[in-house]
Amino acid sequence: MKIAFKKLGSQPLHFEANSDKAFFSGDLILKKGNLAQLNGTITGSISIPCDICAEEVEKSLNEEVSFYLSDGIYEGTDEELDVVEIDRSMIDMEELLNAEIELIKSDYFCCENCEGTSLDREF
Ligand SMILES: [Zn+2]
Repeated sequence: MKIAFKKLGSQPLHFEANSDKAFFSGDLILKKGNLAQLNGTITGSISIPCDICAEEVEKSLNEEVSFYLSDGIYEGTDEELDVVEIDRSMIDMEELLNAEIELIKSDYFCCENCEGTSLDREF
């Protein structure tokens, strides 16, 4: 699903996307000028390798996601905002979902079998 930035307004626009077994849905709302806010939830599951034994495990997801989207370069001064810059004024929901999945995958993860064996390891 791709959404043109110019379609966003003060009324929340519902979006949905999926990637493999992960499902992403929520709303986009225009905040000001070229800045929009995304509030969504990622559900479903992803297969993710255990950091200890490398076994692929199906991890179920229930992640609340909230960040801002900027149409082009973000020129605001509020550095606390988590802003994703959008190319060509088109928001590609699958691409955003895949980026979120990569973030989840980059977190430390261990499977049930290895749980407890990592207490003395720092990540
Ligand atoms: Zn493991």
